[in-house]
Amino acid sequence: MAVERIHQLVDTFGRVVNYLRISVTDRCNLRCQYCMPADGVPWVPKEQVLSFEEMVRIVRVMSGMGISKVRITGGEPLVRRGLTDLIAQFSRLAGVEDISLTTNGVLLAPQARALFKAGLGRINISLDSLRPDSFASITRANLFGRIREGIQAAVEAGFNPIKLNMVVIRDVNDDEIADFARLTKHSHFEVRFLEYMPLDGYGNWDRSKLVSGAEILERLRAVGELEKIRSDDRSEVAQRFRLSGCQGEIGLILPVTQPFCANCSRLRVTAEGFIKNCLFGQEEWNLRDLMRAGGSDEEVREMIRLAVMRKKAAFGGLDLDNDRSARNMSQIGG
Ligand code: SAM
Ligand code: SF4
Repeated sequence: MAVERIHQLVDTFGRVVNYLRISVTDRCNLRCQYCMPADGVPWVPKEQVLSFEEMVRIVRVMSGMGISKVRITGGEPLVRRGLTDLIAQFSRLAGVEDISLTTNGVLLAPQARALFKAGLGRINISLDSLRPDSFASITRANLFGRIREGIQAAVEAGFNPIKLNMVVIRDVNDDEIADFARLTKHSHFEVRFLEYMPLDGYGNWDRSKLVSGAEILERLRAVGELEKIRSDDRSEVAQRFRLSGCQGEIGLILPVTQPFCANCSRLRVTAEGFIKNCLFGQEEWNLRDLMRAGGSDEEVREMIRLAVMRKKAAFGGLDLDNDRSARNMSQIGG
């Protein structure tokens, strides 16, 4: 629902914060190599995870402060029961104009239509390989067929475009860049290549596994002529392209070699209710305990403002080569 904006969250670098990524669970039904160790990470006890009521309160308060875009993430958001209902509640909040979801697609097929009807506007599905065996080795699960069904169901439900996220890792799936790019030929998929970030939770990342945006572009140019798609939205993180003669788009998300921190518009809330002002930032603010102790909306706003004012210029102040985040992606909400 659109409202006239009178409030804005602006950090000390003049960046307007209008985008929340909220994690609805830290649990997941996959164990992607680049996100989690093989035996997973300890789950947050259920009573420490935010209830839907608490999440709706956070989004209501934030939307009154200028947050208009909300992305639901996790862990795997579709393992949280009743997500459709949560989306319907978000969509009724004044000021929330755009609700999106990032999912691994395993549980999507039976839910896609209901999610669309509930007000979910956009969907990103993670897909790191088009080869079932390689997919199984990356995600440590034999569920390629389920994800294919999930993608098909999302198309049939009416999501358009559908973004497919591929984390490119050297000697793991970088030989599939061209095949992924060709998926855009006859479809409205936006295939997005993501640089591998040091957020795997077990220190497996190093620069030798990173395939840089420059290298991805070089491989794409071998597939066909690339036309750049210009955008006026400064906070857009993807560099967008179209291969000549193709219907869909290609997006490059290059947080490591071409960071977009200077235009960052994001805040994050983890499944257990901590605000993070950067994916890499180590500072956190405990909204859950504040709310459970009876904190007023004004106190909640105060904590949100503080988190925004403490946003650092880049990478949450972390040195990617030498420091490690205390959380992996599934524990932050990627
Ligand atoms: N489970 C859902 C999924 O996989 O789409 C949502 C959560 S997942 C943490 C969100 C996104 O983060 C996914 O697109 C995933 O590929 C990406 N991701 C996870 N670990 C990453 C890493 N180390 N580097 C880059 N992207 C990563
Ligand atoms: Fe789960 Fe998503 Fe992490 Fe894969 S990337 S382990 S699907 S949270």
